[in-house]
Amino acid sequence: MIPRLVIATKNRGKVTEMRALLEEAGIVSEVVEGLDWPDVDETGDTLEENALLKARAVCEATGLPALADDTGLEVDALDGAPGVRTGRFSGPDATYDDNIDHLLELLGDRPDRGARFRTVVALVFPDGVEITAEGVVEGEITSGRRGNGGFGYDPVFAIDGVTLAEMGVEEKNRISHRARAVEALARELGLG
Ligand code: IMP
Repeated sequence: MIPRLVIATKNRGKVTEMRALLEEAGIVSEVVEGLDWPDVDETGDTLEENALLKARAVCEATGLPALADDTGLEVDALDGAPGVRTGRFSGPDATYDDNIDHLLELLGDRPDRGARFRTVVALVFPDGVEITAEGVVEGEITSGRRGNGGFGYDPVFAIDGVTLAEMGVEEKNRISHRARAVEALARELGLG
């Protein structure tokens, strides 16, 4: 188990979710909070590059092992887009709603609506050791929004007919791409 690490995000919700996943997987005993670091531009061409960019920068700034994640939505009918551009699909300042509108418009009434969320987590240690792992969850894009929970594309991403926004937090966290990536990381660390 890693004694102390920092989660490389300034998003409070993500810290809470990640901390729970890391503790459940037995990866860390203490998640250090309250530290600061310069913003990191996600300039990589892949989810892995972006996760590593963030983890390296935060490890360097804090002197602690740092864990970062990057997530993409891959839609089959759009040849895997938006992928690494998921957060800014409809433009640089896109809101979650803008992105969902853009996605639904592009898909129209196409019947092939298969999609997956892919998360890459990167763990970088001060001695330069870097470990990455990936988690995927398969689903499909609904024809309209359903449910009030979650964030991002959750209202239009369904698994077996139920959107992530219709699930409780616990149910989502049991099956999510981020949970699976953290489980894969635990296996990489020999803890799984
Ligand atoms: P990030 O790499 O975690 O910042 O995720 C990039 C974008 O993917 C976010 O801005 C969201 O739009 C979307 N996203 C990430 N995780 C989820 C999720 O669990 N549900 C729905 N959308 C997500």
